[in-house]
Order: sequence, then C-alpha cells, then structure tokens
Amino acid sequence: MQNKIYQWGHNRRFNAYTNWCVKKFGSRLQKVSLDAGFTCPNRDGTIGTGGCIYCNNEGFNPSYCSPKKTITQQLKEGIEFLAVRYPRTSNYIAYFQAYSNTYAPLEKLKKLYEEALSCEGVMGLSIGTRPDCIDDKKLDYLQKLNEKYFITVEYGVESCYNKTLEKINRGHSFEKSVKAIEKTAKRKINTGIHLIFGLPAEDRSEMLKEAEIISKLPIHSVKFHQLQILKNTPIAEEYKNHPEKFSFFGLDEYIDFIIDFTEKLNPGITIERFTSEVPPRMIAGPNFGTLRTDRILQLIEKRMEKRNTWQGKLVNS
Ligand code: SF4
Repeated sequence: MQNKIYQWGHNRRFNAYTNWCVKKFGSRLQKVSLDAGFTCPNRDGTIGTGGCIYCNNEGFNPSYCSPKKTITQQLKEGIEFLAVRYPRTSNYIAYFQAYSNTYAPLEKLKKLYEEALSCEGVMGLSIGTRPDCIDDKKLDYLQKLNEKYFITVEYGVESCYNKTLEKINRGHSFEKSVKAIEKTAKRKINTGIHLIFGLPAEDRSEMLKEAEIISKLPIHSVKFHQLQILKNTPIAEEYKNHPEKFSFFGLDEYIDFIIDFTEKLNPGITIERFTSEVPPRMIAGPNFGTLRTDRILQLIEKRMEKRNTWQGKLVNS
C-alpha cells in the first residue's frame, strides 16, 4: 500500500500540481495573473448578457493586474510582487485569467500571448477560457507554441450536469466542455479544468459522481472551488431572497467531501487547488471563516493521513 500512496514520487497523498512542476521543471512555477481586457460571450450578448450567476471577476484580480496596463507592465509588476513572497522561484507562467482569454480574433491573441512570452522569466502560458471560445485554428496555433513553451488551457467546466449549467446560466453544455477538452488534449496541450462544488441544483452524491466522470477525460490538472457567494452577482440576490434554496459546505464537511472525491479521482490527474479564496470584502454568504487556502490544504492533508487514504484509492475497486 505504501507504494500506492507515494506513486507520484513525493511524500504526499495526492498528485499535487506543484510537485509535478518541480519534478518536470526543477522548480515550482509561479503564475502571474493578467487581465488583458477580454470580455466574455456570456456577458456581451453573444450568448447572454447577465453572465454566470456567480461571476464577479473583480474578486479574482490581484492589485497589479489591470487591463489599463500593458501585458509587459502587468508581468513586470506581478513578478516583482511575487519575488518577495516566493524568493526562490524564477520560473513564471503568464496566467491569462480574467474573463474568457481566447475570446478574440487569432491575430489579437497571438500579439498578447507572444508579448507575454517575450518577458524575462516567463516560460509558458496558462489560458483560462470557456469551452465555446476555442476553435481548431486557435488550438493549432497553441499546439505550435507548446513545442517551445509550457502551454496550458484551463476550461471552466464548473459542473458535469446540464441541469446545473442551465441553472447557473453558464451558456454551454457539458458536452461542449468534453469536446473542447478532447480537441486540446489531442494536440498534447496541457488541459486543465475548474469545477465548483455546492452549486444549487446538485446534491452531494451527484457531486461525488463527477470524480468518476472527469477521471475519464484526458485532463492534466484540475482546480476545485467551493461555491462562494460574491457581492454584486445574481446569485447573491437569489441567496438574499431565498437562503433556504442553498446548502453550503461547512469547513469540516468540505474537508471530508473533497477527500471522498479525491479517493475516486484518477491518480494521473494533478490537483492544483482544493479550495478557492477571494478577498473577504467581496463575500456575501457563508465561507470558511478567515482560514487561508494553504491552511485548509494542511487540514486536508492531515485528514487524509488520519483516514489513511489517498488520491485514487477507490478507483477500480
Ligand atoms: S464565463 Fe467566466 S467570465 Fe463569463 S460570465 Fe461566466 S464566469 Fe464570468
């Protein structure tokens, strides 16, 4: 059993993305968030106008990150900021994070991505987008870039259930996500996904079942988020008017849930985060108190140890 736990070549009970990076590149990779001024088809009227009911991108932007600055400026300031916090890191990934970062003509994307890649210390891109904002031409271009740099496309899948995707006004189906993931992975581009737990319309057993569903997809990494109600969003309004419709995880319950999920997750998929964190001033609903993500990660790992369990323990059993 011991070998099973340590199959990733490090002393942890899950396939941690950070450790995978160290193994592959010799050091951790630090993501520098960027806001390149993109919008989103679910906001500009192409697909919808209201956006996903939980969306407030303000919640995710670090201070150095503003579309009023050039990509080079944002990266320079971001790297300066992060170098203080992580002095031993010298490998940076330009993280196109805000809104849908493939939602523009290819020529514009090339200019932005290549500006980022020309900055000192930047060895790759991580591009967050919707699965309906990608096409073959963009993927062919990214495939070429991926020969020289470390390129990741992160899709906001959020849920494997169309009933939930409708409820949150996502504007695309799960099938659309699967197609985009397959096309991206086929080109050997690192493919990541985001999932949110606690969305209205889903119960705990449905959420757990998602571990089996995503385990079959050709993804390299996953980020999990607990549902957080952010101010100035449609979901905040719904929560204010109908709190009885919501069922939030308490911290303790979430820790057990996410471990249950991880036990069912394909051990080949790297986990980039188990929880998300936004500034407390943005929160308009229950949250995990004042605990930061790194502290919650420690609690999850401690509980895994106590339960003597690990990622993939229940796969094929
Ligand atoms: S796709 Fe992303 S940016 Fe667009 S509305 Fe939804 S969460 Fe916001």
